[in-house]
Amino acid sequence: MLAKAVAGEAGVPFYSFSGSDFVEMFVGVGASRVRDLFKEAKKNTPCIVFIDEIDAVGASRASGASAGGQEERGQTLNALLVEMDGFATDDTIVVLAATNRPDILDSALKRPGRFDRQINILAPDVKGRKQILEVHGRKVALHSEVVFDDLAKATPGFTGAELANLVNEAALMAARKGREQILNEDFEKARDRILMGIERKGMVMSDKDRKILAYHEAGHGILANKLPHSDPLHKITIVPRGMALGQTQQLPISDHPAYSKEYLRSKIIVLMGGRAAEELIFKQQTTGAQGDLLTATHIATDMICRWGMSKTLGPQSFSIESGGFIAGAGGRLPMGHDTARLIDQEVNELLSSCYDEAVRILKKEQCLLENLAEILLQVETLDGEEFDIIVNCSVKKEVAAMKESEHTCRACTVKEDCSVGQSMEEVVDEIAS
Ligand code: ZN
Repeated sequence: MLAKAVAGEAGVPFYSFSGSDFVEMFVGVGASRVRDLFKEAKKNTPCIVFIDEIDAVGASRASGASAGGQEERGQTLNALLVEMDGFATDDTIVVLAATNRPDILDSALKRPGRFDRQINILAPDVKGRKQILEVHGRKVALHSEVVFDDLAKATPGFTGAELANLVNEAALMAARKGREQILNEDFEKARDRILMGIERKGMVMSDKDRKILAYHEAGHGILANKLPHSDPLHKITIVPRGMALGQTQQLPISDHPAYSKEYLRSKIIVLMGGRAAEELIFKQQTTGAQGDLLTATHIATDMICRWGMSKTLGPQSFSIESGGFIAGAGGRLPMGHDTARLIDQEVNELLSSCYDEAVRILKKEQCLLENLAEILLQVETLDGEEFDIIVNCSVKKEVAAMKESEHTCRACTVKEDCSVGQSMEEVVDEIAS
């Protein structure tokens, strides 16, 4: 899109190719295509030539990243290098290329006179996302209530293509309902579908499993609410979607330029909340915490090994930057046994202390935990606002009243008046409707 915009601004002919167009089975075909392309371009100067996915031909010859067809690729790359060097001084051709893997490109490509300027395009920030949504929103029929401010905030990390897909999904949602215009709720549903997968309506869970799940998610939710450095809660659900049984979503208030140690620690504590709630209430461990533990371990390892956040080890990095697609795939630098053992110990201590903290908070809030889980079992999904009402209401009057009747809450001692002034039944009814 950026290349197209550049050509549009410049008002000159625009030639667009994909790197894979030049990759052929027969040696020499790709190279001759490169020569043809530049011959054509030279006839129409000034012009812009754009090669997408340049890594298909430009992968480093030394790295072996382009396994198979080595010779063909080598020849194609050489042809490209020769053509780029071979512009006569009066040829005005600008060559642009795009790749997701700048790390594997052959260094010859990046020398002065070739692709000597690099622009890193990161995922758009909240302002960018809003503008991208507006661009794609122009092509569909939007209801007048739709404004993209909230949606832009609710889609951190989305790329331009993913935002386009989101608008498309929302249009499908509206069409399925037989509506002519897209509403806010269509966007919200489309976002859930993209982020969490399709609802598995047909899935049968035993009452016991559902109960454990409700406590698990309630545990995450309460910690997200109670920790001062944590992102605010956006949604909490026990409807199984995609691979996950339930989900607790938090949304950052703004795009984080950098993360503080307190923030990362809070994140781990929230992740531990599911397992901690299960242990606290049912005195048992389930596999439901698998994903939580994996993410928590990744964060803890990065804190110790990559960001120097351990007192014992000091400000030192032990990790090799992967440069690949999978975060944490980089591994560790060569080190002695003692250092390795110390790192393992530090990671373990960090995780354990976060788990203990999660248990401590949930024990203190056990009353709220029980109420929240009960409500989740009834209404299945709560958004951030509804969650806040329950937290405000539940800790106060209604719980105390229930305790005086037949309610079996063990932890609650608060007997103030409820500031919201609603009974628990009213809250549940309101949310369910
Ligand atoms: Zn969980």
